[in-house]
Amino acid sequence: MTTTNSSRLDHAIEVAKQAHKGQLRKTGEPYIIHPLAVKKILEEWGMDEDTVIAGVLHDTVEDTGLTLDDIRKEFGDSVAFLVDGVTKLSTARNGMRDIDTYLPATKDNFLRLMIALGDDIRVLIIKLADRLHNVRTLSALPPDKQKKIAKETLEVFAPLADRLNMGQLRVELADLAFKYVDPRRFEELKTLIEKYNKSAEKSLHKIESDISAALKKEKIKFTISGRVKSVYSLHKKLAKHNQNINEIYDLTALRIIVDDITDCYLTLGIIHSLYTPMNGRIKDYIAMPKQNGYQSLHTTVITKDKRVVEFQIRTREMHEYAERGLAASFYYNEQKLTENYKKGKIEHLPTNLFWITELQMTAAKLREGKKVDLKKLKLNLFADKIFVYTPKGDIIDLPAGALPLDFAYRLHSEIGDHVVGVKINGKMSNLNKKLEQGDIVEILTSKNQTPKTSWLDRIITSHARHKLLHRLNAPANPTAEPKKKRKPRK
Ligand code: MN
Repeated sequence: MTTTNSSRLDHAIEVAKQAHKGQLRKTGEPYIIHPLAVKKILEEWGMDEDTVIAGVLHDTVEDTGLTLDDIRKEFGDSVAFLVDGVTKLSTARNGMRDIDTYLPATKDNFLRLMIALGDDIRVLIIKLADRLHNVRTLSALPPDKQKKIAKETLEVFAPLADRLNMGQLRVELADLAFKYVDPRRFEELKTLIEKYNKSAEKSLHKIESDISAALKKEKIKFTISGRVKSVYSLHKKLAKHNQNINEIYDLTALRIIVDDITDCYLTLGIIHSLYTPMNGRIKDYIAMPKQNGYQSLHTTVITKDKRVVEFQIRTREMHEYAERGLAASFYYNEQKLTENYKKGKIEHLPTNLFWITELQMTAAKLREGKKVDLKKLKLNLFADKIFVYTPKGDIIDLPAGALPLDFAYRLHSEIGDHVVGVKINGKMSNLNKKLEQGDIVEILTSKNQTPKTSWLDRIITSHARHKLLHRLNAPANPTAEPKKKRKPRK
């Protein structure tokens, strides 16, 4: 945790106070409470000074008379860039909310926007801090707004926090929001978890002391603590398992943090010598990290008194990273981290840091018209997605397996409707060619082209299908192909 003490920051607070003077939040408090809360969150996450300053100023350009130029003059390019990014992000989102046709794809489009606009990942981090404070103070808003914001938080921001491996933030955002989306269910499950924990308390103490004794005997340094399951993740798991609570094996979980990877595996062995491990429940996320870079050993055991307990075993670095994710990487400083990794001081390197760095560098190079080897990009964070580029370097995300027409309709239905061909990485290709990670896709169009029924077989996204069907079924539209005659039903 860092506390930023600087005259620049003090100055930013003064400027924000002046700018928001007279404005009130829905809670009736002076507006400045909000940017100051965002500042505090960013400091807790260990963000750098520019980010904290941008956090203080994040609502000034949108909501007050202050301009981006004012900010640039007073605080420099970097702060101005960050404030601009946050402002653009909220404008873009407001615009998209109104586009009904985008509704089925809102989530993806928003993520895409966030990635494309958030050229600097710190923009997203400020946005997450902003959202966190807004859901913490959601009670002041009217119920319909509460639900809307809460829903968006569950659908967009909590998954984003997860993708950035910010575990603590994910849990807080999800639980705060779920409470508003489904209050009755929230209380029900919260009570259930509390009851369960209370009943488990005694035997957990016994397990803790047994394990502590065994680890001490092996001279392993450790800390052990209980992990409380989040209400929302229990809700999702129950839905997956037909509401059968007996199939939820991680209601009770203990977390053991040790010094290094060797100790992780030793500890796993010790646990298995004390209790019976459950078949198929041993997960080695150290050797095979999750896509967001999460690392840990997981095992579920059955204790002597027939209790099912999950253990999570990890090093301190892994723990820090699992809780704070991308923000932790900033805290550690990318350079130092890489250096120490090369020296063998850290066994674990946050993979998504590289993912984001690479993505940003690639987009920048493409915009400058430079050549880049896109095949080398490792976009592991979104394994179910591919990222492709327009010739100008805009990033478009599509589900894996997407075809050129999906891409074209994603850009605009006017482009989709008039496709005559496609160039992939500068070479003529065809509409059946699956797009691959990092492809540069150029759509060739002609005014005379009209949408074809056969295109339905060359589309995998529902967004494109929806657009195409709409056009094919619109008889008033002169550019549409005549509908095929169907046999009348008897
Ligand atoms: Mn705000």
